Amino acid sequence: MDMSNLLLDFRITSHCNLGCDLCFRNPGIKDSTLINALNIIERMYNIGFRRIGFTGGEPTSRADYIHLIEYAKQMGFMTYLSTVGHRFIMDHERLNSVLDWVGLPIDGIDKRVNTDIRSDKMSNQHRVIKSILTWLPNNNNHINIKLTTVVSKSNINMLNDIVNWVEALPYKIQAWRFYQFCPLGVGKERRDKLEINTDLFSYKMNMLKLQYPFMPISWATFEERDKANVVMEPNFDIIIPDGENYTLLGNMLTDSPDKIISAIFGNSEIMRKCENNRFWLEDREFKA
Ligand code: SF4
Repeated sequence: MDMSNLLLDFRITSHCNLGCDLCFRNPGIKDSTLINALNIIERMYNIGFRRIGFTGGEPTSRADYIHLIEYAKQMGFMTYLSTVGHRFIMDHERLNSVLDWVGLPIDGIDKRVNTDIRSDKMSNQHRVIKSILTWLPNNNNHINIKLTTVVSKSNINMLNDIVNWVEALPYKIQAWRFYQFCPLGVGKERRDKLEINTDLFSYKMNMLKLQYPFMPISWATFEERDKANVVMEPNFDIIIPDGENYTLLGNMLTDSPDKIISAIFGNSEIMRKCENNRFWLEDREFKA
């Protein structure tokens, strides 16, 4: 793995009012201005990065989020957006030519589970996914669709129901990542309610893969996700999940390119884990 294929997640905002119990953002960091965000994207490109993820918080809560994606695509980045999807159909026309991947969450297919694992405000998330996967086949879609499911005590016994439900929808997704619940950020306070054992998680995942060989299912345990994605906060701090906390690697604005490169790429454990965590991107690489 080198700079051109490491996906760096840019948290363009730490804001989100959806209040999920499993959230692992660091809330309360001020958004950068548009011009500073554009400049940092350009700096990333000049340093050698070629894959950028737009995340949050909820990235679409920034009114200028598409502008940032358009700018990154115009520079030559592969672009990824992680969103709850509430604006996806509305914004699809603009996103369709500039976004390579969108990641959308589905943790349950009924209000009770969605509320339990996330929040009241997310209780209808399965309906959001249903609308999108029903709407896409007739709308000339070019964006790869990845679903994400956080596996916790709330949904571990209904994973088959969730996969059956998605499989029956008209649009065929390109990737589906299942993640063992991580007690990080806000989610750390909810560990008693949500945390699950790694052996049980791995067993359930292997069973699921056997039962649905044609679904693009893959997964990562808490340990496999640890140090497996490089994140940039809205203040441009570069951090990495490290156990139950985050470790600061540097700052994209104030540190020299050499310092940034050595903090990320000089660490063989980070490299190995990032590569394993993002293999699903490789088959559908953006070509400039
Ligand atoms: S998990 Fe995502 S949708 Fe939920 S509160 Fe956190 S940022 Fe918002």
